[in-house]
Amino acid sequence: MIPAQQVQEILDATRIEEVVEEFVTLRRRGVNLIGLCPFHNEKTPSFNVNPARNIFRCFGCGKGGSAVTFLMEHEHFSYVDALRWLARKYRIEIKEVERTPEQVLAQQYSDSLYIVNDFALQHFQDQLFNTDEGKSVALSYFKKRGLREETIRNFGLGYAPEQRDLLVKTAKNKGYEVETLRKLGLCSADGSRDFFRSRVMFAIHNLSGKVAAFAGRTLSADKSIPKYINSPETEIYVKNKTLFGAFQAKKAIRQLDECILVEGYMDVISLHQAGIENTVASSGTSLTEGQLQLIKRNTNNLKILYDGDPAGIKAALRGLDLALEQDMNVRIVLLPNQEDPDSFVQQHGGEAFTEYVNKNAQDFILFKTQLLLEETKGDPLKKAALIKDIVLSISKIPDPIKRSLYLRECSNLLQVDENALLSETNRLITGSIRKKAEKTARNPGAASDDDPLLAPPPETPDTFEYPTNRTSLPSVGKGDTFQERDIVRLLILYGNQMMNPEATSVASFILADIEESLGDFDEVLYGKIAQDYFQQIQNGAHPLPDHFLNHPDAAIRTLTLDIMSSPWELSPNWVEKWNYPLQNQPMPDFNFDSDARQALDRFKLRKLMKMCEINLARIRAASERGDEESMFKYMKVQQKMIEKRNQIAASVGTVILR
Ligand code: ZN
Repeated sequence: MIPAQQVQEILDATRIEEVVEEFVTLRRRGVNLIGLCPFHNEKTPSFNVNPARNIFRCFGCGKGGSAVTFLMEHEHFSYVDALRWLARKYRIEIKEVERTPEQVLAQQYSDSLYIVNDFALQHFQDQLFNTDEGKSVALSYFKKRGLREETIRNFGLGYAPEQRDLLVKTAKNKGYEVETLRKLGLCSADGSRDFFRSRVMFAIHNLSGKVAAFAGRTLSADKSIPKYINSPETEIYVKNKTLFGAFQAKKAIRQLDECILVEGYMDVISLHQAGIENTVASSGTSLTEGQLQLIKRNTNNLKILYDGDPAGIKAALRGLDLALEQDMNVRIVLLPNQEDPDSFVQQHGGEAFTEYVNKNAQDFILFKTQLLLEETKGDPLKKAALIKDIVLSISKIPDPIKRSLYLRECSNLLQVDENALLSETNRLITGSIRKKAEKTARNPGAASDDDPLLAPPPETPDTFEYPTNRTSLPSVGKGDTFQERDIVRLLILYGNQMMNPEATSVASFILADIEESLGDFDEVLYGKIAQDYFQQIQNGAHPLPDHFLNHPDAAIRTLTLDIMSSPWELSPNWVEKWNYPLQNQPMPDFNFDSDARQALDRFKLRKLMKMCEINLARIRAASERGDEESMFKYMKVQQKMIEKRNQIAASVGTVILR
């Protein structure tokens, strides 16, 4: 725990620009500094740092806050870790107050695991470099595979000799607990034998460079011996959240804004040695969500290198929808026959490798489409299944513009009508949103907050001004915006449904009645949508949600997604605050009729109340300047409006308090 007084000391010392500059290249523009946002992909800078206010804000994605927020978002630090980082940077010595005995024990325990792993690393390296067996068996192997000594040391490569209990014995002599060795999987359960024997060793580092685990490769040609064996999972090693090489690659990935993913340890090491340092390996066939998040912390651009047969590749592709969901740009590179990244780079060199990869990188979805299309061979059933598969992948992409580009490309490749693909995609999106919303409704605590479709809108900034073409959502609750949003929601979701008995569409029903207020919305964005809709109706069209989901205006797209994802997620206190009945909870689709009537009434009520106020001001002004004629004219208007207002209020069931 850091004492409060020291927290203040750290915050006082912190300069936002100095912190951000460690991760983002900034240049000065007026009093602010700008750069490319590290939180979303962009080509023109919309990431602002304001030194005077000591805050940052991105106008593209809406992220913003203090230096602590920046570190928590960018480095995925906890609050305390962000403060520690700042304290180190500004050379403030933290005098921590006491932690609970449990915290101390947990820390001591994981420290002890790292300490023993570090001892094991030194042991394996010592065996590799300083013993005859190590030199003749293992060092010569690494050298034969083209590795330089510097690389071998940098990656913590080593050797576990044949002797059955050398590590255990050495550890005991140096005073390490055998129990800890056992916990780390370095020895047998009874503590009598070493786990890794006659193997070359690879250290698996965590992101900060500590040794979390080991992998050992046999040099024996005996097929009955497993080629690789690994440390078991422990408190310090969670396999599906670890990428081999991530520590060594971290900086390059950030600088190049791209991560290359390969399959093997040797691939990573050889590529690093050849200067291609933004390379990591997942020690399994498919990427896990935890591993993707590790990559996404540093870049959105992922290139995956495959060598292997089409069947294996097909299986690996399945995991990649996860990356699409995270809005990552995934590209696939197939290596020439019989080559893996290691052999390719050893034979042709780093430059040729980079050139090959850049030239042959294919977009993931198009690659998948082509690969699967080859297999359908004109079989219509197989093709139908393929289309479903591809559309499912596309539906995972959060960005509607990207989605529509893919739909176009794939409709060409598959020779299927683009609109058919589009409606299938939207069906899947709405379905998955609905499922998530239902899940959230059933179990509110379990809502995943990293889901881009359900993420809460970014907070409205109080310190920076928004540019006009923002993409974040307007805040709800100011002025008449709540009623306006409801109107827009009904238009987008149910605009083309029919009202009964009027036999007119929901959109015509609403818009005809509020035509004169269309230019008068408190929230410009809502007004824009209502006007857009009105225009289309006049041209005889009834736009579907697709129209707004794929609208050229990013703010409209974002809002539409939000509306589609949260039609029923109303906070209970809105009922009181905004007199908003939750009668549409269970089956919203069937209630658009009564919804539309009430929404319209509430909207008109708010606008009338506002007009009453404006008119009242006119009456007062007229009375002050003694203009009795005007005064009486305005009072008549006022009376009419009050009558109308009370009438609507009665039908909505609202008590007018003023
Ligand atoms: Zn951004």
